[in-house]
Amino acid sequence: MLDLKTLPGPDDLWQMDRDHALHPWTNFGPFERDGALVMDRGEGCWLWDAGGRRYFDAVGGMWCTNIGLGRREIAETMAEQALKLGFSNSFVDTTNGPSARLAAKLASLAPGDLNRVHFTTGGSTAIDTAYRMVHFFQSCMGRPDKTQVIARDYSYHGSTYISQSIGKRPGDRVPQFRYKESGIHHISVPNFYRAPEGMDEAAFCDHLVAEFEAKLAEIGPDNVGGFFAEPIQASGGVIVPPEGYLPRIAAICRQHDILFIADEVVTAFGRIGHWFASLSEFGIQPDMITSAKGLTSGYIPLGALIFSDRIWQAMAADGERWFTSGFTYSGHPVACAVALKNIEIIESEGILENVMTVGAEFEARMKRLTDLPMVGDVRGRKFMICVENVADKSSRELLPEELDVGKRIANAAEAMGLMVRPLGHLNVMSPPLILTLDDVAFVGDTLETAIRKVADDLT
Ligand code: PLP
Repeated sequence: MLDLKTLPGPDDLWQMDRDHALHPWTNFGPFERDGALVMDRGEGCWLWDAGGRRYFDAVGGMWCTNIGLGRREIAETMAEQALKLGFSNSFVDTTNGPSARLAAKLASLAPGDLNRVHFTTGGSTAIDTAYRMVHFFQSCMGRPDKTQVIARDYSYHGSTYISQSIGKRPGDRVPQFRYKESGIHHISVPNFYRAPEGMDEAAFCDHLVAEFEAKLAEIGPDNVGGFFAEPIQASGGVIVPPEGYLPRIAAICRQHDILFIADEVVTAFGRIGHWFASLSEFGIQPDMITSAKGLTSGYIPLGALIFSDRIWQAMAADGERWFTSGFTYSGHPVACAVALKNIEIIESEGILENVMTVGAEFEARMKRLTDLPMVGDVRGRKFMICVENVADKSSRELLPEELDVGKRIANAAEAMGLMVRPLGHLNVMSPPLILTLDDVAFVGDTLETAIRKVADDLT
């Protein structure tokens, strides 16, 4: 048996991980050769690896470390709640204080009549539950055939069987896995940078709405129960839809009794300056919102499906039905206590206001990177930004895939102490929401130097 009484050093940790762990999204060849970077500690926006090297984390963990790392108040909250009530299940008719308080708090923050909360273990399970709730609700409404759903290309909704089948980032679909094809449909990604030649934004929006209507006609609106959309598609390349697109799609959904599910796993809890982006940023009132990540700033796993009174009333109408869905860790008292403390910190430290001011500066600085010859597009809002690298700015032609330009840039930035996330030819950033103006200058200047260096290397 392995004896871990003497603390292993960085190389031992690397070896243990390399020999025993299967990471999310493992590319087997490189992993067996190179293993993984072992992280050791974090404070604010900074990370240290096990060898003592320091990095500025412009990735924000994974779109999630909203209030920054190393917060003593969060650690104390965890410890207090773990000592008081470290676990209590939420099945059927039991609850706990943090879970009840958090449900009420989320209801007060969510838009319109989204006053009901079902806790999950993360974003994927919130999406899975939303999918099941579509069926449950439509059946209760006497529309049992309204089971099919529509989502978008390049969307990412998680990695359970159903959530990954609803998502459709091309790189995620590998031949060895199976995906649910029947009853899940996809329409085009609303990426204006890649719009058909000659279309302005308004024409592109008309084009996308017409495509949605055509898809509905093809399936039959009576068979479609739900539409899934990230207000800004995060991992698909930070796609901000054209002006008017989301309200127009939402109106069509309403007209046909199709539930609109806003996947706000990334956009909620301040990433672009609001508790929830759907209504505040895009003017839409969804029927359900899925959330996770920033809900606890990544300190502990927790997801929430927030849904409308209207859905609750339909499901509860006859007083007889069972909603047979949920998880051992639904409403976990420690996770809910952390989420409450996280929300309290966002409120008391004016973090949404910081996103509106410093986040706006971040967005503006990043958008200036389009002056560089290799940068075709910089898109996103506030602390949710993507840089698209291209071979030719006028034709928008991509660099050869094997050059792995996003990874090269991420490596060059990392050598200068900055972490940005590579996604094919893209680089994505979602830093903690506590950035200062000095941090903005550091990230902007370092990334610019990294892009210039890679561009020089490639010519
Ligand atoms: N939805 C969106 C928009 C996401 O970005 C993610 C994760 O990145 C998920 C859902 C899945 O969340 P989780 O990884 O917590 O299951």
